Amino acid sequence: MTTPAASPHCMNTYGRLPVALTHGRGLRVWDTNGKAYLDALAGIAVNTLGHAHPQLTPALQDQVGKMIHSCNYYHIPLQEALAAKLVELSGMTNAFFCNSGLEANEAAIKLARKFGHMKGIEKPEIVVYEKAFHGRSLATLAATGNEKIKEGFGPMMEGYIRVPVNNIEALKKATEGNPNVAAVFFETIQGEGGVKPMNTDYLQQVRQLCDKRDWLLMIDEVQCGMGRTGKWFAHQWSGIVPDVMPLAKGLGSGVPVGAVVAGPKAAHIFQPGNHGTTFGGNPLAMRAGVETIRIMEEDKLLDNVLKVGAHLHAALHRELDGVKGVKEIRGQGLMIGIDLDRPCGVLMQRALDAGLLLSVTADSVVRLVPPLIITEAEADEVVAILVPLIQTFLAEAP
Ligand SMILES: *Cc1c(COP(=O)(O)O)cnc(C)c1O
Repeated sequence: MTTPAASPHCMNTYGRLPVALTHGRGLRVWDTNGKAYLDALAGIAVNTLGHAHPQLTPALQDQVGKMIHSCNYYHIPLQEALAAKLVELSGMTNAFFCNSGLEANEAAIKLARKFGHMKGIEKPEIVVYEKAFHGRSLATLAATGNEKIKEGFGPMMEGYIRVPVNNIEALKKATEGNPNVAAVFFETIQGEGGVKPMNTDYLQQVRQLCDKRDWLLMIDEVQCGMGRTGKWFAHQWSGIVPDVMPLAKGLGSGVPVGAVVAGPKAAHIFQPGNHGTTFGGNPLAMRAGVETIRIMEEDKLLDNVLKVGAHLHAALHRELDGVKGVKEIRGQGLMIGIDLDRPCGVLMQRALDAGLLLSVTADSVVRLVPPLIITEAEADEVVAILVPLIQTFLAEAP
């Protein structure tokens, strides 16, 4: 019995692959035909704890039985609990909750604008980056550095200055003598841009520049945060603390939840009436965030990311270094990009056929962002399926 994988009544917004996934357990998921897959994508860096986690599942069931939503007219104790935890882990001071990555970034952009207005800047500008991805709303799309996905949605919101990554001179030059700059905004590791990290020195230099010029440093950790690199937040590898940090993807281990965490320079900019969301910070989403972090701490998942991440990087280097057509293997912890010398979108289907979920980003980069519970044995399985696929693909006539 096969169930057709088709969605004729849904808008045609995604070029979907022809399978429908129905359930999972740990690193495995199954489709409507009963075929099993190994999940090295985690719903795009979302399913931190894999599927149907034996501790998260009953906690969410318990929460659904108590309360799903109450709205922000009232205090929500679980919201305060998650905010306190994020403050502790980040070294920042306050959090605002929303429902997705773009919403977290939208709030960050509003914070930057009001920060500017409070300093007397009438038209505040925000520095953003080439190849950046910040979301699909009009403000976050305009901040995004991918012309293809903006086509058809102009006019774009103004107020951005775009610069190349990892080039402090270019940043200084682009902002020279400009009194309207209010913030600098980037991903520590560009995700959709092809798993491209910002260098440690660059992060430190930008932090200094932001301090000197009184700009907000806003770091989009929607994809690379929440333990994915082996620290809670990827920028922590360089010892800096941002002023504003949007989070989402892995925060609720699959339950939609976004957050903006802010330090002293930005934490008190929003006053009642300035910003809000109906669903944001609801008890179910907050419980998911609290339990995700609790389980990550109890099961020492950051250590697991370091251990299995190193194992996976080593195996990929061993198998693919020197293979013609493999340009670079990049990333940190369990955020890995294998950059090929040609577009390789077809590998998503081929991996699926071979029982592996992964994605291809920036046209030519195979991206692995598995659940953080992955074991070394599962990482070996990923490599055993993936390496021959890449070798065969690269051996074909381009
Ligand atoms: C996915 C992503 C977003 C957008 O998140 P949504 O939840 O899809 O709106 C923003 N920034 C980064 C870095 C992302 O990876």
